[in-house]
Amino acid sequence: ADRMAGDLSTLLHDVFGFPAFRGVQRQVVDRVMAGRATLAIMPTGAGKSLCYQLPSVALDGCCVVVSPLIALMHDQLRAAQAVGIRAASLTSVDNDWRETQDRLRAGELDLLYVAPERATTEGFRALLRSARIALFAIDEAHCVSEWGHDFRPDYRLLRPMLDEFGDVPRLALTATADAHTREDILVQLGIPRDGMIISGFDRPNIRYAVGPRDGLTRQLTDLLAAERGPGIVYAQTRAATEKLAETLGRAGRPVRAYHAGLSPDVRAANQAAFIASEDMVMVATVAFGMGIDKPDVRFVAHAGLPKSIEGYYQESGRAGRDGEPAVAHLFWGAEDFARARMRIMELEPARQPGERARIAALGALVETGTCRRAILLRHFGESPPERCGNCDNCLSPPDSIDATETARKLLSA
Ligand code: ADP
Ligand code: MG
Repeated sequence: ADRMAGDLSTLLHDVFGFPAFRGVQRQVVDRVMAGRATLAIMPTGAGKSLCYQLPSVALDGCCVVVSPLIALMHDQLRAAQAVGIRAASLTSVDNDWRETQDRLRAGELDLLYVAPERATTEGFRALLRSARIALFAIDEAHCVSEWGHDFRPDYRLLRPMLDEFGDVPRLALTATADAHTREDILVQLGIPRDGMIISGFDRPNIRYAVGPRDGLTRQLTDLLAAERGPGIVYAQTRAATEKLAETLGRAGRPVRAYHAGLSPDVRAANQAAFIASEDMVMVATVAFGMGIDKPDVRFVAHAGLPKSIEGYYQESGRAGRDGEPAVAHLFWGAEDFARARMRIMELEPARQPGERARIAALGALVETGTCRRAILLRHFGESPPERCGNCDNCLSPPDSIDATETARKLLSA
């Protein structure tokens, strides 16, 4: 970028149209602007992109963004371009490489998105040497950790590039980091412990409700009748997605399906219809939702056990981004755990303990009679109050029911 720093709040307003920083954004941006290596841990929807996009405009030079998914990258690219940021990407589906490289060398780019496998090539490093780089942003940084739920070996190879340009500050960003993964990110990407900024994970407007699957189709039909507004139902498989979409569609609401096996045209059309709709239900695999910005999703329902607490938090977190009341339902069965255990046994031994810990954490979440939110937040290292007052267990405590039951038995004995 060649615009000068000026006042960051003014830039925030003039470029992005936001009246104020949210949460820890200001803290992160200040650190980045001071040239210090930073790990920002912020929940989905908290506004991580801004933490490098704003500096990319304020700083002299280009900000290189490493991002793991081309689809995600292009969504962000379009959003950045829409507010006038000079942004480009170098991926297998871009055909303007020549032009992008020229613009980078000429200092005409604020943001350059690349996939990790590109970023680690010698060719790319040579390109960077011929340009002025202001910042490295490593998005979805938990991909660097084998312990994390989304391990991407290429992320491990980023370090030599970061170190070659040792004067360029680095900013790692993730929504999903338990203590173990955090440690990994700091070590692997060379970020000091005091460079870690964690924002609160609580989403108080989301009510959590977890229960056993018991006639799933009927449960979901009831749910669609009870909950207003747009919703997402996460199914376990592509086939289940289509079947559920068809069944639920008979109840009167507009329902569509979304999974990676559908043609790009159909996916794009369904996604666009969902974003525009005020009452549509999308039945999808977890492929749906990443990078989609629909603030008024009123409910998310998991038709089976998610892959991890991180995944659950992220997926359920797609509800209620506008801050209005929303619900996250989770329907689970013992067979979900059996299937997960089978999957673990097929993994290479080194990855088994991490997976087992993930499943155990899910077990604790679904089987607890105590506050669900407290369990979620403790998982992310917070010390929440014992009761949130906005989850199924807080709203109708199972313990008190058990106690009544016990008392009744004692009395009738
Ligand atoms: P994350 O990557 O943390 O999930 P994003 O960067 O995609 O989140 O941002 C989520 C949404 O929040 C976007 O619509 C973005 O425009 C919006 N947003 C980011 N920062 C602010 C802010 N300071 N004020 C208002 N909206 C913001
Ligand atoms: Mg993001």
